[in-house]
Amino acid sequence: MLSVLTVPAFNDNYLWIIHDGVHAAVVDPGDAAPILDALKEHKLSLVAILLTHHHSDHVGGVATLLQHYKVPVFAPRNDPIANVTQPMDEGNVVTISELDLKLSVLEVPGHTLGHIAYVAAEQGWLFCGDTLFAGGCGRLFEGTPKQMLSSLDKLAALPDDTKVYCAHEYTISNLRFALAAEPGNAALTARYKVEQEKREHDVATVPSSIGIEKATNPFLRVREPAIAQQLIADGRTKNSDPITVFAALREWKNNFR
Ligand code: ZN
Ligand code: FE
Repeated sequence: MLSVLTVPAFNDNYLWIIHDGVHAAVVDPGDAAPILDALKEHKLSLVAILLTHHHSDHVGGVATLLQHYKVPVFAPRNDPIANVTQPMDEGNVVTISELDLKLSVLEVPGHTLGHIAYVAAEQGWLFCGDTLFAGGCGRLFEGTPKQMLSSLDKLAALPDDTKVYCAHEYTISNLRFALAAEPGNAALTARYKVEQEKREHDVATVPSSIGIEKATNPFLRVREPAIAQQLIADGRTKNSDPITVFAALREWKNNFR
């Protein structure tokens, strides 16, 4: 039986440890120290490192972890990352035999050009780095709105009960923006209350699920007439073409306080 440990790091990052009580794989270890502490605390031995993209808050701990454990490093082929042993492309499968775990790779460019996500179909887990967030999506540092929208559409096509393990606790500020973009969405209003309650008790709002995101995340809802109408009424876009709506939403969010 596999489970996922949440390892908070920096201000608002989540690093993920997948384990069976003996062996462990880590996703996006931006910092080695909290990972080494968690491995020690839970008496786990690291067997693999999985990376979603090249930003330092996702890869910064890799070199130090490799000093302690000689393990394969899975990472996107098209992002510049040191120490990678297994460059991954769309459709590749990561097999971690110690954990009896298979994860398939999706290319999800937009936040970075090489960004990938890992799907454990049997467990119903998605590790999506900074592509899809609870209530939002990553900034477009390298890709275009068209690329990011098609990446998010790919993730939205996963089963509704897929758990979304994203890499940051940005949920409350994302949902405040979502409410501005789609004030009439009752599921969104309800979710905002639930997630606020969690944060007041210092509980993580992640993982979310694909079903919850499809119902409340404006970046997965660019084909909803209400969202397009809001943007058009505010003068942020002139038409309801999904890519145009997505670009206008992302631009609005970049400046939203
Ligand atoms: Zn990033
Ligand atoms: Fe990040």
